[in-house]
Amino acid sequence: MMKITLLAGGVGGAKMAEGFDGLAGVELSVIGNIADDASFHGLWVSPDIDTLTYSLAGRIDRAQGWGVADESHRALSVLKELGDDTWMTLGDRDFGLHIYRSHALAQGQTRSEIAAHVARFFGVKSKILLPTDDVVQTRVRVAAGWLSFQEYFVREQCKPEVLELAYEGIEAAKPTEAALAAIAEADLIVLAPSNPLVSISPILGVSGMRESVQAAKAKVVAVSPLIVGKVVKGPADRMMKAVGLRADAFGVADYYRGMVDHMVIDTLDVGLKAEIMALGQGCTVLPTLMTERAEKEALAAGILGAMA
Ligand code: GDP
Ligand code: CA
Repeated sequence: MMKITLLAGGVGGAKMAEGFDGLAGVELSVIGNIADDASFHGLWVSPDIDTLTYSLAGRIDRAQGWGVADESHRALSVLKELGDDTWMTLGDRDFGLHIYRSHALAQGQTRSEIAAHVARFFGVKSKILLPTDDVVQTRVRVAAGWLSFQEYFVREQCKPEVLELAYEGIEAAKPTEAALAAIAEADLIVLAPSNPLVSISPILGVSGMRESVQAAKAKVVAVSPLIVGKVVKGPADRMMKAVGLRADAFGVADYYRGMVDHMVIDTLDVGLKAEIMALGQGCTVLPTLMTERAEKEALAAGILGAMA
C-alpha cells in the first residue's frame, strides 16, 4: 500500500481526495482545514471537514460541491422566523451533524475524535485528520474592518476587496499527533488544488506542521488551484494579488517555494512550466479540472505517475 497524505481545503481539496480515495493500492490520510470553522445558532460548524466527509461518503450535493444531497431547510426557516441571522445556509440533514458535533464537544471529545467518528460512521474509507484540536479562525480585513471567514465568504459573497488575512489562535494551536504521524509516515505528500492562503496556509501554520512537511522523507507535490490565472471557484486569485503574489500557477509555486519539490499545473498552463522550474521545482503538466469521478482518479493517478 502506498501511503498518501493530502493537505486539503473544502471543494477543491475534496475533489482531489476523492481521486486518491478511489485508487487501488493507496492508503489515504487527509489533513483538512479547520480555520473556516465557526459557531452558528450555538452549534459548531466545520465546513471544510464536512465537505471532505460528505464527498468521501458519497453524500455530497454534486451540483453545489458542498452540503448534503437531497437536503431541505425547515430548521433554518424556523430560525429565520424567530429572528436569527440565516445567511449561512445549513440544511436539515447537515444540522444533524452539527448537533452531534456540538454535543460531543460539550461532553469533552476532541474535534479530531469527532471528525474520525463521523467519517467512520458515514462509511468513509480514508482517514480524515485535523491539523490541531484547538480553534484557529481565519479573519479577513476589508475596508469596513475585520470579518470572520464565513462573513466574508458567504454573507458578503467574497465581494469586498481583501486587504489583509490573519489566522486567529494559530500561534497557540498545538498540532495533533495523528497529523504529524501521517506526514512523517507518508510515501507522498500532496497539497490539494485548494486556496493556498485560507485552506493550506492555516494547516501549515500550526506549529510544527510546516517543519514536519519539510523534514518528511516523502516528496511534496502541489496541484495548482489556478488554471490560466483563474479560479474554478472562490476568491483565491484576488487573495493572492492582495498579498503581493502573481495570481496564476507560477504565483502558487512561488508561494510554496522551499516547501514543495514538484508542481502539477494544468495543460492550459504549459507556457508557465519553464518559469516554475526556474524556481527550483519539478513541474508536470496534466489536465487538472475535475468534474467527473474519472477525471479525479485520472489526476490522482497522473500525480503518482509523475512522482514515481
Ligand atoms: P473551499 O474551502 O471550498 O474554498 O475549497 P478549497 O480551498 O479546497 O478549494 C478552492 C480552490 O479550488 C479554488 O481556488 C478553485 O480554483 C480550486 N478548484 C476547485 N475545483 C478545482 C478543479 O477541479 N481543479 C483545480 N485545479 N482546481 C480546482
Ligand atoms: Ca474552505
